Amino acid sequence: MKITNLKLINFRNYTLTELAFPAMINVFFGANAHGKTNLLESIYYGALGLSHRTSNEDELVRFRSEGLAVQVRFEREDAPHNLQLKRYLEQEKVKKIILLDEKKISAREHYGFLKVILFSPEDLAIIKGDPAQRRRFLDMGLAQTDPVYYDLLVQYNRNLRQRNKLLKNIREKSAPENLLTTWDENISVLAAKILQKRLMNLAGFTALTGEIGKALTGSQEQLAITYNLKANNGVFLQVDAGDTRDWIEFYKTSLRERRFKDILMGYTGIGIHRDDLLFSINGYDSKAFGSQGQKRSYALALKLAQLEFIKQQCGEYPVLLLDDVMSELDEARRTQLLHFLDGRVQTFITVNDRSLIPSLAETAYFKVCEGVIKKD
Ligand code: ATP
Ligand code: MG
Repeated sequence: MKITNLKLINFRNYTLTELAFPAMINVFFGANAHGKTNLLESIYYGALGLSHRTSNEDELVRFRSEGLAVQVRFEREDAPHNLQLKRYLEQEKVKKIILLDEKKISAREHYGFLKVILFSPEDLAIIKGDPAQRRRFLDMGLAQTDPVYYDLLVQYNRNLRQRNKLLKNIREKSAPENLLTTWDENISVLAAKILQKRLMNLAGFTALTGEIGKALTGSQEQLAITYNLKANNGVFLQVDAGDTRDWIEFYKTSLRERRFKDILMGYTGIGIHRDDLLFSINGYDSKAFGSQGQKRSYALALKLAQLEFIKQQCGEYPVLLLDDVMSELDEARRTQLLHFLDGRVQTFITVNDRSLIPSLAETAYFKVCEGVIKKD
């Protein structure tokens, strides 16, 4: 996939910006706080309909403006396309519309149509942060390649919210306990489907991560991913795609067993919203034992594996956004990474110092200064 043009209106510190990208590697350089990350965020937003740094989309609208617009023109294997996102006020209500080739589409149809992977220093949280960060990483990757997975997640989360609400009502004696049976059934079926998809895809994804990890570290580090399923009584089960358990029965039984506890707490304590991934290096847990540099390389390996995974699933590489990561790699790794990407993956790189990115076959440089971008 290749983005050919970008147009921004009142997005963050950009008033009106129009850019063309003839090259595969696009470098945005400039001093702090001039709008480099904002630019990558606008591409991410244009492609996925959400921001990687905030869940509050109001923050994306330029100060003292009432709305924003992002337009991305890009080429996929099938044809050239045009995505437009608009967010504006209408009778004091926020409206958001998404157009694909001038036709209105839903958020679900939008997500994953133009595929992007973003890597920034904050992604260290995938390794260091809480389990929610790792689930988000996994879910967002899978949902980009599998619309059924996206739907299952939406349904699961809706059922979970309803079950949690019911648990609180039962606790306050405003609903009878037997109403739970329907929700337990629904959640068990959905959880089993999601779990199976996660495990199935994780097998291939782990192999890719292992290969990339070896390439990045000169074969010294064996990276592996284990799925940790949260079961009752604080137990974590290490499971994989070869596990032939009846997962629907497993969830139904587990939910029944913990019903009293869930009512007391007012929320559902197990399920695919509580599982975790364990990222190991040479057999030990990278979160607990990895050095800062190892964690950073691991996070990069995970993102590059996602890139390859999407290529395997869809036949095309996604667009890669690299925010501020070049200065964290030594020169050898920087060059290695650029050679890997050059000519294959369209990449948008931000960096303070232009000289950190050597000019390869297809490199374009853009200077970012106070919300204005000029080709250099
Ligand atoms: P660094 O090199 O430090 O990462 P950067 O070039 O990536 O810097 P950005 O994060 O892209 O910087 O831009 C930050 C600037 O954008 C800040 O000066 C901030 O005030 C401005 N900014 C953020 N949101 C908005 C907004 N909604 N409206 C106007 N300006 C904004
Ligand atoms: Mg930045």
